[in-house]
Amino acid sequence: MINDKQNTAQIDLSVRNRDVTTGYFGDWQKIDMSDVAAWPSFDPHADSQESGATDIGKFMHETGENFKRKGGYHSAHRIAIMQYENAVNGTRRGSESVPRRGVVLQSFLLKNGTSVELEITNGSNGVIVVTPVTKDK
Ligand SMILES: [Zn+2]
Repeated sequence: MINDKQNTAQIDLSVRNRDVTTGYFGDWQKIDMSDVAAWPSFDPHADSQESGATDIGKFMHETGENFKRKGGYHSAHRIAIMQYENAVNGTRRGSESVPRRGVVLQSFLLKNGTSVELEITNGSNGVIVVTPVTKDK
């Protein structure tokens, strides 16, 4: 992103923003930094993030998505996952579903072949809550 003289990222940062869940695509990308901080912490010493998703991965996703915004949301979102989020985390983001209102499930494939599923819900103060899903055996 830094060496590109044609494109720029336009970022509008906030905290405890009830209208933004981590990020919101637009000409100016809205990023709720308290939501970013709610994701698992990035481990700079690990090759692959065992938590699946990370705070830095999400920040890179939102920034990269805006950087690629000229292609429209779907293209920018896909590039943000592949070129930024997956690359930063050393994982592969899988499916996303909404099992019920206010609940989002995101799955991630780790380099060791195991998968991690995270549940994202809205907290009481405009900040998301991210919880690993434990599967019943
Ligand atoms: Zn996106």
